[in-house]
Formats: sequence, C-alpha cells, structure tokens
Amino acid sequence: MTAPITPDLLTVPRKDEPQKPNLIGMSREALQEAMIAAGASAGQAKMRATQLWSWLYTRGVQGFDEMTNLGKPFRAALDELYEIRRPEIVERQVSIDGTRKYLLRINGGHEVEMVYIPEEDRGTLCVSSQVGCTLTCSFCHTGTQKLVRNLTAAEIVGQVLLARDDLGEWPQPGQRPQDIHDSGKRLLSNVVMMGMGEPLYNFDAVRDALKIIMDGDGLSLSRRRVTLSTSGVVPAMARAGEEIGCLLAISLHGTTDAIRDPLVPINKRWNIEALMQACRDYPRLSNAERITFEYVMLKDVNDSDADAKRLIKMIAGIPAKVNLIPFNPWPGAPYECSDWERIEAFAEIVNKAGYASPVRTPRGRDILAACGQLKSATERARRERVGL
Ligand code: SAH
Ligand code: SF4
Repeated sequence: MTAPITPDLLTVPRKDEPQKPNLIGMSREALQEAMIAAGASAGQAKMRATQLWSWLYTRGVQGFDEMTNLGKPFRAALDELYEIRRPEIVERQVSIDGTRKYLLRINGGHEVEMVYIPEEDRGTLCVSSQVGCTLTCSFCHTGTQKLVRNLTAAEIVGQVLLARDDLGEWPQPGQRPQDIHDSGKRLLSNVVMMGMGEPLYNFDAVRDALKIIMDGDGLSLSRRRVTLSTSGVVPAMARAGEEIGCLLAISLHGTTDAIRDPLVPINKRWNIEALMQACRDYPRLSNAERITFEYVMLKDVNDSDADAKRLIKMIAGIPAKVNLIPFNPWPGAPYECSDWERIEAFAEIVNKAGYASPVRTPRGRDILAACGQLKSATERARRERVGL
C-alpha cells in the first residue's frame, strides 16, 4: 500500500540576490571583525560577537530589531552592513510518517535538497554540501547531476536554522535554550551530511559549518550526533577527524574492487585497501565512536551471502556499525533493490558476526524517492508547465 501523500507546496517568489555579507556562517573571529566594522570598539568586539552569536544560534532571530540587548544605533549599523540570510524553501512535502522533504533555493537560483526524519529517540536532518556532485556513483541520482558549485558555510548552517524554524524549535521568550537541549527530546537532535554532494570535496565550508552546529553556546549538537558521510576521499579523512571531530560514515557498497569500481568510481583512485587503512587510522575511533559503513542493497550485484562474509572480514577489528540501505530506485536507474528476504539474510550474517546492522527503514517513501529526485521531479514539472 502506498501511503497517502500530504503535499504542502510552498512556492516562494524569488528574493533579490543579496548585496551584503551574511552574518550566518561566520566564525567567531570573523564575527568580531564584523562588529568592529559596524562601530564596536576593539574592547567591545568580543562581547558584541558573543551577543550576536547567541541571537543567531540559540534564539534563531532573523532581524536585527529583535536583538534587544543592542542599542538602536548599533542595530541600524549592522542592518546597513549585513544580512541574516537563510536558503529559501521552494517546495516542502510532509510524509504521512512525519518525514519532511524540502527543496531549497540558494544564491544564484540553484537548488538543493534537505530531509528531516523524525524517529522515536531522535530527529535527524540530512544536509547537502554541494549542488550536484563531481562523482558519478552509478546507483545515485545526484551522481547524474553535474557539480554546479560548493555550498558556503552559511548555506550549510542555514539548512539547520531553516529546519529549526520549520519545526518551531527555537526557545520561546523566557525559555532557556538549555531546557530544550537538556530535555533529551530535541526535535532536531542529529545532523548527517548525507544530502547532495561529497562533503570532503567541500572541506573548508563543511568544517566551518559543522563547528558552528556543534558549538556548545549555539546550536549545541554533540559531535557524537553529527555524522559526515564520504564516498571515500581517503586523503581528507584524517583531516576530518582532527579538524571536525564528528562521526564518520563510509559509503562502502562493495566488498571487492571489481564490484566497488563501477558502483563508487572514486574506488579506482583510492581502492578498498587504502580506504580501510584510512578507517583504521581515523582519529578518535573507539567503541563509543564507531564508523558506520553504509551498504546499499542492490539485487544480484552486491547482496549475496559471500558479499556479507567478505564484508565482515574487511571490517574485522574496526569499531563499526553496518547500515544496510534498501536501494531507492529512480527513473532510469540501472539497478533494482534486493528482495526483502535477501536483505534479512544478509543482515543476519552481519549481525551474527557481532555488528549492529540495522536496515535503514525506507522513510517518507510516498514523497521521498532517492536523493536528488525531488529536484529532478520539480524541474520536470516546471518544464511541463511551460510546455517544454
Ligand atoms: N557523497 C556522500 C554523502 C551523500 S550520499 C557519500 O557518498 O557518502 C549519502 C548516502 O546515500 C550514501 O551512502 C549513498 O551511497 C547513499 N545513496 C545514494 N543514492 C542512493 C539510492 N538511490 N538508494 C540508496 N542509497 C543511496
Ligand atoms: Fe556523490 Fe555521494 Fe552520490 Fe556518490 S553517492 S554521486 S559521492 S552524492
């Protein structure tokens, strides 16, 4: 049975392109400089930057007028020089299971996807890092879309802010941010860099954005609740551990180079052996901070018992979780999803070897489809509307 669709289409007229620098996404140091440029004395800059940081990231305010602990002339000076800008929501769909899928527009009129997935014990936001992708994984719909550009740190942080706006999760006046953070019931409790793009090919912006997202004085997500997924950009992995320090997920999908090469072509550059070594060397790897190996289940391609056994051997000794992902088909995709019994048999072998291997339940099937699809579907609908 297909779940009924709850479409909730918001088509927003395009805002003017920004003229002023965006305060969102600036590091604390850059924010201090921005305060000086707006007239704060060198002695005051740090305090002003802290106040700004708090308005932007613990209160989520979108206008300088709301920053009541700043004098009116200073607010006016800030308004003159800067913007507080988030991406715009072009389309928003809410699934019957609560999954929310958004198509966002960023500067230049480009579009990226973002997905919010509510679960019993957490709410996960899946964030994009690039418009399109330079890599061409054959089962991935984003892989068919050319890289248009990297997202800025502001656009990456902006996704989290936008999701909190939409979920209504900013503290109310009088409510302490801590009350939400400590409740163990945050609606948006986890962030995964698993949207469009390869985050390690946009390293600096992803690092700067995740640092803001994990900052204890702001959005305050623990680094154990932030996961960066990579297709295997081996030379950047150790740097990610050192400079970002979040959890790591690896898009593995194949257990021999012959199987993985066509699925994840970056494997021709850094093969399985190099990838597994980089995993073993990942800073801070421990039982509390395991690497997640993502494995998309493709019928008759990578789903046999022999594949499962090779998988266990490959990851032996690495504190790991295995995430089995039922393939999400898209029009023209050259694969099918493995049968359910096959997925269960595969999971059983991995489980028996002592690895947690949850099968990622398909969420928002009624709206979601594979990553990159909402964008294509919207573009198709637009073309049809104008009769192309
Ligand atoms: N570029 C990064 C992160 C984005 S992709 C990476 O490749 O890891 C996030 C995850 O979704 C990856 O594990 C990717 O392999 C998986 N994925 C992509 N297309 C999929 C599809 N059609 N069905 C199931 N999983 C898919
Ligand atoms: Fe890019 Fe990841 Fe898709 Fe591969 S799976 S094409 S790296 S987004």
